Amino acid sequence: MIPPEMAPSKMISSDLIVQVRDLYKTYQLGETTIPALRGLNLDLQAGEFTALIGSSGSGKSTLLNLIGCLDEADQGQIKIAGIDVKSLNENQKSDLRNRKIGYIFQSFNLVPVLNVFENVEMPLILREEMTTAERKDLTEAALKDVGLEDFLKHWPDKLSGGQRQRVAIARALVTQPALVLADEPTANLDSKTAHMIIDLLLEMNSKRGATFLFCSHDEKLINRVQKILRISDGKIDGITAINSGGR
Ligand code: ADP
Ligand code: MG
Repeated sequence: MIPPEMAPSKMISSDLIVQVRDLYKTYQLGETTIPALRGLNLDLQAGEFTALIGSSGSGKSTLLNLIGCLDEADQGQIKIAGIDVKSLNENQKSDLRNRKIGYIFQSFNLVPVLNVFENVEMPLILREEMTTAERKDLTEAALKDVGLEDFLKHWPDKLSGGQRQRVAIARALVTQPALVLADEPTANLDSKTAHMIIDLLLEMNSKRGATFLFCSHDEKLINRVQKILRISDGKIDGITAINSGGR
């Protein structure tokens, strides 16, 4: 007999890094209520690289912000690594954000008065248990992974768009998060650089083993991922699994 802790449903759920159930989110603009998510369901397996594709206004950023614990849903459930985010207080939520989740944004969001090294080191400063030497090692390793080991002292405004996004990728990965959320990370880049950034994200996914959820409205960028989710009017309306991931 299979012991209860090995029952199939348990085994499956232990591999799920994200579970979203019946998620609703509306925004209030004056008198108008804007439904952004309307009963959305989603599962992400640990280690998976998933693209979320949908037109502008379909709810992609809303979903990423909710999964990333940057905003709260009206209704429904989100579990990150089995933890129901509704059960967490603000401190526990920031801890979850800092330890489990890395974020990459369309506009890079680097701090202009910090150099490349300092931008990437920043999420580690919150780790009270970490020494300066440990922070330095992790930061340099993350920057080496994105090919910027020779740019440690550079200022963000002296870098190209592609280099800035590499810094942002290093910053998202430096904490070794289980989940990386990338909200249109290539939207401000030319198409050649955009393809290079996708390649780098795929490489980081296989090298570091983190789960990636990458959203875009650009169909050209998605032919190399393992799984494509289509979002429309605040709901997932299609899932395409690609065996080889096209790599
Ligand atoms: P996407 O990222 O796919 O473009 P969003 O999640 O940003 O979509 O938006 C979904 C819907 O919610 C859109 O109709 C958008 O106008 C609306 N919306 C998003 N953020 C806000 C906000 N802060 N206030 C009001 N409406 C918003
Ligand atoms: Mg968006």
